Amino acid sequence: MRVGIGYDVHRLVEGRPLVLGGVRVPFRFGLEGHSDADVLVHAIMDALLGAMGEKDIGYHFPDSDERFRNFPSLSLLTEIKKLMEKKGYRLVNIDSIIIAEQPKLSPYIPAMIENLARVLNIAGELINVKATTTEKLDSFGRGEGMAAEAVVLLRKINS
Ligand code: MG
Repeated sequence: MRVGIGYDVHRLVEGRPLVLGGVRVPFRFGLEGHSDADVLVHAIMDALLGAMGEKDIGYHFPDSDERFRNFPSLSLLTEIKKLMEKKGYRLVNIDSIIIAEQPKLSPYIPAMIENLARVLNIAGELINVKATTTEKLDSFGRGEGMAAEAVVLLRKINS
C-alpha cells in the first residue's frame, strides 16, 4: 500500500471559467492558471504522483510548456492514470476537500465524482469530494482564491 498527499491553490480572477473536477461551475470568477486551473484535479494528481514516488505535477506538466495552456486537467489526469497502470498500481480510494468561500459547491460534487471515476476507471464510491469554507477568516475566506487537498491510497498489484 502507498499513500499520497496533494495540495493546490489558485487565485480567483474575472474573465475565467470556474472548472472543478472537470465541471464548469457557474460563478462570476474563475481560477487563474496556465491550464484550466482545476484546483481539485491538480491536488488529486499530486497525491497520485506522491503515492507512486513520482515527484509532482510541475515536473510532469511544466508551466513553461505551451501545450498545457488552458489544457483540461482531466486530460492530464488521464496521463497519470497511464503511469499508474504502467507502474502496476491500483487505486484503493481518494478523499479530497475543496476550500472555497463561494459558490456553494455541493450541487456539483456528484458530477465531479462522475468525471473523476470515468477518467480513473474506478467506481464512484471510491472517490470522496468535500467542500468547506474557512468562515471568511483568510484569503480563501475573502474569496481571493480556492485551495484543494487530496489523500489517495494505492495498492501495488504486480509484485
Ligand atoms: Mg494547480
